[in-house]
Amino acid sequence: MTNSLSSTTGATRYGVIGNPIAHSRSPFIHEQFARQTGIALSYDRLLAPLDGFASTVTAFFAEGGGGLNVTVPFKEQAFALAQAHLSPRAQLAGAVNTLWMKDAALHGCNTDGVGLLEDLTRLGYAPAGRRILLIGAGGAAKGVIFPLLSAGCERLRVVNRNAERALHLREHITTHEPGLASRLEAGGLAQAAGAWDIVINATSSSLGASALALPGGLYAPGALAYDMVYGSQPTPFMQQAGQSGATHTADGLGMLVSQAAASFAIWHGTTPDTQEVLAALRRQLVSA
Ligand code: NDP
Repeated sequence: MTNSLSSTTGATRYGVIGNPIAHSRSPFIHEQFARQTGIALSYDRLLAPLDGFASTVTAFFAEGGGGLNVTVPFKEQAFALAQAHLSPRAQLAGAVNTLWMKDAALHGCNTDGVGLLEDLTRLGYAPAGRRILLIGAGGAAKGVIFPLLSAGCERLRVVNRNAERALHLREHITTHEPGLASRLEAGGLAQAAGAWDIVINATSSSLGASALALPGGLYAPGALAYDMVYGSQPTPFMQQAGQSGATHTADGLGMLVSQAAASFAIWHGTTPDTQEVLAALRRQLVSA
């Protein structure tokens, strides 16, 4: 890594950039990883104005910042900014959540997919051979479609409130990887019907109180319902799934920690242990 100067404490600066950002748990996670691995760093929350993402990123790296995580609503803008040096994962996702400087150029990757795969595996639901319904077509969904297909799921159907966005995502993936077309379907929420082994909510609907307008009978025997949103209580989607026949439900806290570990590995060349940090974060959430 080049162009990595330091904060007043002598540690290289990292951070997470978004709007809003006050809620982000990333500083805690990266500080725990740093403690574990003995790497000196500082990690801050950066609130970028909605029309000031590029200038905030440019200033951060010009001042010697080592790396940035990117969250809502800037992942597509981060993709555009790092256009010249994108990882294959980021190219297929069309969205970037990890930025860093190398050889004086901005690089971008997307670690949401590996984060989700790791968490599904931890929960005993590795995607290989499973039928998966993915709800949502925003930045989060974009990051996980190709990794789920690459991990060998039998079928993947992407559905979204705005069906056009889901159809567009399918087109984007199959244009790059035509061989995936037979396993990837797309449509509106009404096309969600089926018997699924894993149903993933990649919408932000659980941030509100209302459940998604989904058809009944979605869950095959033994199925998992997974919400990317997390909280101290089961989310509205998890509650809805429990009442609709899902055998197991999980929130996205494990994905959050695992995607952070993958970013940490890109920046520092070492992969931290996620279990201890996940347990600490869960305790924090429950006692908050
Ligand atoms: P975007 O704003 O890019 O996309 C939002 C998505 O949610 C769209 O598909 C939108 O549908 C849908 N949506 C929003 N409200 C509703 C609703 N009431 N009913 C149905 N659909 C709705 O957000 P992201 O994709 O970046 O993030 C989605 C969620 O995933 C966020 O809450 C985020 O915090 C979480 N996330 C968690 C991660 C983790 O590590 N655990 C990682 C990444 C994201 P439409 O297109 O029709 O508007």
